[in-house]
Amino acid sequence: MEERGSPDGDPARSLEQGPEGPETPIQVVLRVRPMSAAELRRGEQSALHCSGTRTLQVSPPGGGPDVAFRFGAVLDGARTQEDVFRACGVRRLGELALRGFSCTVFTFGQTGSGKTYTLTGPPPQGEGVPVPPNLTGIIQRTFIWLLDRVQHLGAPVTLRASYLEIYNEQVRDLLSVGSPRPLPVRWNKTRGFYVDQLRVVEFGSLGALMDLLQMGLTRRRSSAHTLNQASSRSHALLTVYISRQTMPPGDPGEPPMAGKLCFVDLAGSEKVAATGSRGELMLEANSINRSLLALGHCISLLLDPQRKQSHIPFRDSKLTKLLADSLGGRGVTLMVACVSPSAQCLPETLSTLRYASRAQRVTTRPQAPKSPKAKHPQRLEVEILQLQEENRCLRSQLGQRDPKASRLSGARVAWAQRNLYGMLQEFMVENERLRKEKSQLQSSQAQARDEQRILAQQVQELERRLFSACHHQPHPGLAPPCPCVMVPAPLCHALPPPCSCGGFCPLCRAPLAHWACARGELHLPQVFGPKAPGGVALSAQPSPWAPPGNPGSAKCPRERSPSEWPQARVLAEMLLEEEAVPSAPPLPVGPPNTSPVLRGGAAVPNLAQRLEALRDQIGSSLRRGRSQPPPSEAAGSPRRVLPPC
Ligand code: ADP
Ligand code: MG
Repeated sequence: MEERGSPDGDPARSLEQGPEGPETPIQVVLRVRPMSAAELRRGEQSALHCSGTRTLQVSPPGGGPDVAFRFGAVLDGARTQEDVFRACGVRRLGELALRGFSCTVFTFGQTGSGKTYTLTGPPPQGEGVPVPPNLTGIIQRTFIWLLDRVQHLGAPVTLRASYLEIYNEQVRDLLSVGSPRPLPVRWNKTRGFYVDQLRVVEFGSLGALMDLLQMGLTRRRSSAHTLNQASSRSHALLTVYISRQTMPPGDPGEPPMAGKLCFVDLAGSEKVAATGSRGELMLEANSINRSLLALGHCISLLLDPQRKQSHIPFRDSKLTKLLADSLGGRGVTLMVACVSPSAQCLPETLSTLRYASRAQRVTTRPQAPKSPKAKHPQRLEVEILQLQEENRCLRSQLGQRDPKASRLSGARVAWAQRNLYGMLQEFMVENERLRKEKSQLQSSQAQARDEQRILAQQVQELERRLFSACHHQPHPGLAPPCPCVMVPAPLCHALPPPCSCGGFCPLCRAPLAHWACARGELHLPQVFGPKAPGGVALSAQPSPWAPPGNPGSAKCPRERSPSEWPQARVLAEMLLEEEAVPSAPPLPVGPPNTSPVLRGGAAVPNLAQRLEALRDQIGSSLRRGRSQPPPSEAAGSPRRVLPPC
């Protein structure tokens, strides 16, 4: 006994193992229809015998040796539609389509062998008369199964359908709103071959899908001939598109998984002489045969391992164009080969069996559409390596600047290194922290400038006080006062008049008075000046720095109540403390060599020193004033002495 075309392994199992693997063979199951009433009437004999569930034996009428064919499954005439549905493996394809694969089921065989019956059941008995449920074919049963499956998925699924036929090498839309018109078959890189302007209808229920099927079936071309009273005169392709949201949901921009399940009911090959086709029927038969021939040619070339790499003439017919992906591309394909058992049909049956045997050695490379994340694993790996390198550099830089901080963040960095998204998050947190630090520094700087300005004003006022107090009694022989202190004086001229020792006003560069000189304690005046021209002691005159509301006060500022001049108290406190207290928020601890400018209050120590020097000078003046009797007393004229501060 000769055995042809024996694929290794169970088709269902190989489908389970295959789709993600490099190559998956087309799965082929064989269906042998029962002898028809007409065949039995004619006394025709069956030439086929099933042996087990996977082998078919063919007994030539002339009495030669049996020929055995092995397929994924062999279903004889006694098997019901439900048996066929369960055994052919279409549910497995449905599962794959739900996972984003492109799956195709097509029937193949001689005209009248039961292809249409296997897919959709017997032809409708009238307009609107549904196929009895027990006779419905693979398509209706798959629809029921699929919609039930979708309901239990727990993820949003969008279902759409298209239905077309290839009739005399023209593509016609069976779901078109108006009468079908020829549609072009086009090609592009992402979609491969596709029918342009094909109507794709969304549906939400089994009933709606059944209506679409029924609509296509009634519009499809069929004719009666000797071998089949309802012979399909076209190849029909019904496609269900399954668009499924991934669970758990992926990135917002991630497209949903898009699989499809296509049912192809091929028109049967026929010998024009056997079918008695004439005229239009003969034309149809010729175009059917031509496209089936092109299909056979492609399958033969796909089988040749050397030629498979080269050109496959899928463009030779519309049928091969639209089946290109299913046969040689990325699809998962199931072929249901249908044969008649009659010995009268044996030549065509043998042809179909050989054809199907060859087809099950054709392999495809199924591919589910990948999510963007999984699309470029190599590119992602490179990115991760680059980020790791950058991270290492940054950490080493940080370590050089602040080893303690580096040690503290080591654990976090290690965690981030393990996870790309963690790393990104880490950088974002780090950036946010740096932004906050920067704004803190900026506000500290502004506050330090304000403090500096206030201190400078206070120093000026104190210097004015000192000058004013001393200016009441000019010392004979003193150098002329610094022009910058002639009242009213600008703020910058708040320094004492020239000193005979040759000191200069640091602001206006005028010579300093001896009592105002930092080294001029020896020249400090012992007495204060004479009366002003108005007869009033100069010390009793309102001083230019006297606070508003107390214009005529001749008191020493020390005698004023603190509430009268709070700034004086603040100034005194600051002078005693010798340090400016920053009012800005605490600054981040910086490295030891951080520039003091950045830490605010850079000029404060200078001002404090100046204030301290002034305080000393005032103190010294007052001490001397107390220890020596005022010259006015000796002269018998009233003199006022500045009270001790
Ligand atoms: P094809 O599509 O291959 O040309 P059909 O599916 O139209 O052939 O079948 C031809 C005839 O045979 C139809 O009348 C159909 O009802 C009948 N037939 C086919 N297969 C079976 C079967 N398994 N059981 C009963 N009748 C069948
Ligand atoms: Mg048919």
